[in-house]
Amino acid sequence: MHHFHYRNGRLHAEDVAIDDIVQAVGSPVYIYSTATLTRHFQVFADSLKEFGGLVCFAVKSNGNTAVIRTLARLGAGADVVSGGELMVARAAGVPAERIIFSGVGKSRAEMELALDEGIHQINVESVPELDLLNEVALARGVKAPVALRVNPDVGAGGHAKITTGKKENKFGIDWTAAPAAYRHACSLPGLDVKGVAVHIGSQIADLQPFEDAFLRVRDLVLMLRADGISLSRIDLGGGLGVPYEDGNDIPPPPPEYAAIVRSTLGDLGCSISAEPGRLIAGNAGLLVSEVMFIKEGSTRTFAIVDAAMNDLVRPAMYEAFHGIIPVAEPVPGEATIGYDVVGPVCETGDTFARQRPLPPLKAGDLIAFKTAGAYGATMSSQYNARPLVPEVLVDGNRFAVVRRRPTFEEMRALEQVPEWLE
Ligand code: PLP
Repeated sequence: MHHFHYRNGRLHAEDVAIDDIVQAVGSPVYIYSTATLTRHFQVFADSLKEFGGLVCFAVKSNGNTAVIRTLARLGAGADVVSGGELMVARAAGVPAERIIFSGVGKSRAEMELALDEGIHQINVESVPELDLLNEVALARGVKAPVALRVNPDVGAGGHAKITTGKKENKFGIDWTAAPAAYRHACSLPGLDVKGVAVHIGSQIADLQPFEDAFLRVRDLVLMLRADGISLSRIDLGGGLGVPYEDGNDIPPPPPEYAAIVRSTLGDLGCSISAEPGRLIAGNAGLLVSEVMFIKEGSTRTFAIVDAAMNDLVRPAMYEAFHGIIPVAEPVPGEATIGYDVVGPVCETGDTFARQRPLPPLKAGDLIAFKTAGAYGATMSSQYNARPLVPEVLVDGNRFAVVRRRPTFEEMRALEQVPEWLE
């Protein structure tokens, strides 16, 4: 479900024509839809409402302040994985008591920041991290609210690089070692042990791995309870996938996910929170790009576009599929051509799609990469000294630039030449 549709032959984001945005802002450009963000958040939050926890948007998936503020106003919390993301969430207006700090390597300074801000929960992923957090909390005279992230040894996720819940992955405390880690955590006076967290991967299109992981969490909660350790919170992480390809590999909708939560964990009397990212933001964003050249190779026809792997790295990094549509509505029945859609970066990996059937393209045409709202702009870089792509937020018939394109001087502002080279 999204709000990018053709109207009078032109692709629109809600009520705004995409080519009007490009006219004003230039190409390439990320475009987000408020209505889509809102709908996705509400459907997910409504599905889990009965469990009384938080829905913490995973800031790593889209770190734009305006996007996070849009969600914060709907009641979203934030799942952050660095001190920087914590500050972004606070600046966007997320109350500290709705922030969860995840991640396998938090520094002392990040722990201090989290405690000073008074956030809801710090998810700890190892025994040494428990010890450091205890030390930091004691030095500040507070008790850190913690959950232990367990690794349930369940494989899931759309690609090996986004699987996080197998025992060979770096994440979480092995579920067999978790009881001892909990006993240790409970012995530390600077920690307030609140709960258990789990996050098994991303772009998960099937409920079975969730069910397997949640049953392990259930066993752990009951085992700890029998041992006198009573947890009041469960954090399910994120991971529910989104459809990247129309009609293919459609992930289950949030109410079906909620039914699994209910059947596995619903009777434990714990509040249940989640950290969705892709599900909220993925289909709420497009990356729009202009065709620069059509190049006839000896075996392929290349559409060279002005967006590149530094702007949207998912195809190069995870062999990810993104739907591509022209901004001018194709004529029904028009024959298609199989294009290799590539960017200008000097890497063969800078290829968005191979032999993708598209209506005939020419220089100056605009195309849109779909499902680019999550892990798009947030993973972009200045590789090849290319400026970061601007981001635009649409709301009904209005739009605003919510991150502008930097100037060349801004891109180089942090660099300096040592005096011996002057
Ligand atoms: N929570 C944690 C700890 C994560 O590492 C991630 C992403 O990998 C998420 C939540 C969000 O995952 P997704 O965007 O798949 O919902």
